[in-house]
Amino acid sequence: MTNSTFTPVLSNRDSATAIQDEMIQAEHPWSGIVRKGQVFRIIDSEGCQAVDTLFYSLADHTERYSAQDTVLAQGTPYIGPGSVLYSNRGNPLATVIADTSGSHDTSAGACSCESNTVRFGHQTKYMHACRENFLIAVSRHGMGKRDIVPNINFFMNVPIDPDGTLAIADGVSSGGDYVEMVAHQDLLCVISNCPQVNNPCNAFDPTPIRVLVWAD
Ligand SMILES: [Zn+2]
Repeated sequence: MTNSTFTPVLSNRDSATAIQDEMIQAEHPWSGIVRKGQVFRIIDSEGCQAVDTLFYSLADHTERYSAQDTVLAQGTPYIGPGSVLYSNRGNPLATVIADTSGSHDTSAGACSCESNTVRFGHQTKYMHACRENFLIAVSRHGMGKRDIVPNINFFMNVPIDPDGTLAIADGVSSGGDYVEMVAHQDLLCVISNCPQVNNPCNAFDPTPIRVLVWAD
């Protein structure tokens, strides 16, 4: 799948009216609350960044984003305009209402020290990975390893061949690209702004991202 047929869906929301506006530095974790009906935007500030993201129901963290339910419900392995993100209990968590980038991956998961050694060599074992970022972020909310589930990789380019083979390819997003969602319940959002320097997904150069929330 390529972006050649993608039509961007723009948002007319003004960053000046956002109730939250935060920069997430390169390689850092983040967590924040998005209430039901609020709108959540992630901006790929410099392009080609991989934004590993999880959503949990604020009321009950055992209800959380489910890649499997989301892919099954929409019949495509990518997140894009109109995609509904489902929980492990089959409830809608959020819907994508604007997107300037195209396809976002929800199959390839988060990088870990272990997976990095398999892909890039044993010398990478001690490098920081998204699993650690997720652990740091969820631990602030009383959660641990068992609560980290398969995530969305916003802006990450993961072509899937007809035979099911998937690859993590060079990023295709441009600086300023964004994806915007409306929350269907109160959510805890957890992000790892991927620290991977060995992976073409973020052009071997992790960069900051920006998160905004609007009241509606
Ligand atoms: Zn990562």
